[in-house]
Order: sequence, then structure tokens, then C-alpha cells
Amino acid sequence: MRSDKAGDHCAEALSRLKKIIPGGLDGNAKYFDSMPMIKRAYGCRIVDLDDKEYIDYCCGYGPLVFGHSDPDITRAVAENIQSGGMIYGLPHLLMEEAASLVSQCFKCAEMVRFTNSGTEATLSCIRLARAATHRDKIVKFYGAYHGTHESVLIGTKVLEAEPPYPYVDPNSAGLPKGVIQDTYVLPFNDSRFAERFIGQHAEEIAAVLVEPVLGGYGIAAEKEFIQTLRSLTERNKITLIFDEVVTGFRLALGGIQELYGITADLVALGKAMGGGFPIGAFAGLRHYMEKVAPTGNSSFDNLNVVYHSGTYNCNPMGLTAVKTAVRKLMNPDVIRSMNAAGQTLRDSLQQLMKKYGVVGTTTGMGSLVQCYFGIEGPITRPEELVKADKKLQNKFQSLLLQEGVFFIPGPRGYVCHAHRPADLDQTTEAFERAFKRL
Ligand code: PLP
Repeated sequence: MRSDKAGDHCAEALSRLKKIIPGGLDGNAKYFDSMPMIKRAYGCRIVDLDDKEYIDYCCGYGPLVFGHSDPDITRAVAENIQSGGMIYGLPHLLMEEAASLVSQCFKCAEMVRFTNSGTEATLSCIRLARAATHRDKIVKFYGAYHGTHESVLIGTKVLEAEPPYPYVDPNSAGLPKGVIQDTYVLPFNDSRFAERFIGQHAEEIAAVLVEPVLGGYGIAAEKEFIQTLRSLTERNKITLIFDEVVTGFRLALGGIQELYGITADLVALGKAMGGGFPIGAFAGLRHYMEKVAPTGNSSFDNLNVVYHSGTYNCNPMGLTAVKTAVRKLMNPDVIRSMNAAGQTLRDSLQQLMKKYGVVGTTTGMGSLVQCYFGIEGPITRPEELVKADKKLQNKFQSLLLQEGVFFIPGPRGYVCHAHRPADLDQTTEAFERAFKRL
């Protein structure tokens, strides 16, 4: 008989872990009941402490586009560590190689600075925008996640009722009031609201920050919405920042900018770019990015140059991973087949909902897959999710876990290139068994 609980070894180890690591987790949003504890991973598979194996659609929350420990990436990084060292804190040739690859993929990326995470990337984009415009406020959108720094940890979660735009509650204790007041949260995919609000407040807005597919909910920005933001920001001399930490190098090499043919001023990158190694980058038009370049005169720099630094920035491990992963992603079959696999999973979920009489819909784009019960699609705004049957969705996710398929609660998943047709077939069979038990 199957149990809803994680196996004994997982449960015991997790309760021990909670005594030393708050929540037993590395990130609050990652919590769910009966989390398995992982012993090892390979390809698209993870194995827990009870030796139960799962097909992994979490894929490290997105970076593992080639699955766990891709041999090309791990070999290149290991060889580089052995022969080249680990951190220099000085310029080196890999910086030029990796930055050139980013620049080739993103039209706006005339210059690039590397970070170690997407959070640092969005933080630096915002600082640059504020410095360039001499304005303080930023606009972000309801449901969008941009990392864990103060300015953006607001309005990321969909609440039970529509929030009073533009002031939405923060998603963490400890955020200073002043910071919260500088972030306007506007409704996603609502061009008319954006036009009216940004038009009225243009003179105080430094940046409009947009996540082209709301990663937490799988809702894609409509092209018309992104076009509106592009022309509004251009007209009002506001910096347009695309957060392509998830979409970049995944939906297309050049992310949503390539798919929609719309160019941002600055872009935040991360995840897929490093194939699993901790990496991020912010990049953009030369006249923005040059503001980060030090002049050598520290008293001038304090007020005129945008500070960006980090002990681990540009370490050769991360940049070797970027170089190897991006070159692999440049084979057009890779992203094409990941996106097709995402479509296969969405189609199979839709067919099974119909077959088993479950009201629901899927969201996502390309290799990003998500499903909802209790509401019908297409879903274009996060506010529409309030009526979704979260209890049933959680039950489905937990049944999938029992069936050996790990989707992030939602359920949502990232498809990677290591998910082969046989894995997709097994996943579809697990979907069907879960629907039968729903
Ligand atoms: N931006 C988006 C769209 C993300 O999904 C994330 C992370 O999930 C971030 C930024 C932050 O990236 P990191 O977790 O690498 O700091």
C-alpha cells in the first residue's frame, strides 16, 4: 500500500535537518509537506534517502537544462579547475568568451557583467536604471518574482483577493517601509492600466521590470503588453528591464526578446545559462552598462559610477559552465526539442483532464509546464488563479510524487534536454495513474 508520507529515512533526516537549518530548506518557496530528501541525482532523475527514484521536473528550479551533472559541462569545469585555478579576482580570457556568447544571444547585450545569481542580476539592473534616470521608483507586475532583494519581494504571490494596485503587501517580514513605497506593483498583462499609471507617474519611475513568463504561475506576457511597455518606457525615458533569468537560453537562446522581436534596455540572466552552476548576469545597452566601469578615481566613482562587485564574480568555474552550456544550447535542436517535450506534457495533461472529467487547464510556454484545476483557460492574468482548486492541485502533485514523478507544487515543472521520449511516456503514464486516484 502506498503512503502519503515520505519514506522513513527521508522523514528522520528531515526532522534532524530542521534542528540546524530553519525549515530544513534553502528557500522558503520550496517548502511542501512530505519533501523527499535527496541522496543523489543523474540525468533527469533524483534519488531520495529511501532509494526511491523520481523523474525530476524541478531541475534545480530551472538551471539544469541538460539535467543533473551533464558530462560535457562537468568535464569542462573539472578540467578547468585542475589546470586553471578557481578564482582570480583579475581579468581573464574566459570573461571575454562568455560575455561574447551572451552578447551574441541577446540583442540588447552590448556589454555584460557576471554575477552569481539572478537576484544579484535584477538588483544591479535596478540600481543602474536608478542611476541612469535619477529617479527612485520602480514598476513591477503582480505575480512576478525577481529574486530575494528588498525592492522586488513585493507582490510576487497571488493573494485571495485582487490587491489595491499599485501598493501590494510585501512577501517577507523585515522589508523597510521606504523601500516598499518605491515599488509600484501593477496588474500583469493589463496594457491600459500600465498606460494610464506609467503615463501619470513617469517622472518618478526609473524602471519597468517585467518577467516575460510569470515563472511561479506559467502565465506568459502577451506580445501586445510587452510592446506597450516598450513604447511607454521609450516615450517616458524609463529603463525597460526584462528579467529573463528563467526564459533566457530556455524558451529561445535570446529569450522572449528573440521570440517577440522586442529589445529591452537591460536584461537579467541566470539559470539555464550556467547549466546548473551558480551564475547570473546583467547586460544591456552600452550607455547604461558603461556606468558600471570604474574610472580609477574613487571619490568621483562614489557618486557617478554604479557599484557592482562580488568575490565570486567571473570565477572560471561558472564561466566555463556558461561557455559550455551556451554552446550546447546553440544547437537549435536542443531548445526545439525541450519546447516540444513541454508541449507533449501540456497536451497529455489536457487530454487526461478531459478523459477523467476534471475541470482544469494548463499554462506555461515551451519547456515550462504548469497545470490548474477548477478553472478553465486560457489564463492571462494571475488574478484569475484565485478560484483554482489548490487542494486538488496539491493532491495531484503529491500523487505524482508517490508515482515517482517530481513536479514543484503547483504543480509546475521545467523540462530539460535529458528528459527523453521514454521519460515523457513514463510521466504520462504516471499522470494517468494520478488522475485515476484523484
Ligand atoms: N528572476 C526570476 C524570473 C527568477 O525565477 C529567479 C529565481 O527563481 C530570480 C530572478 C532569482 O534568481 P536566483 O534564485 O538565481 O537568485
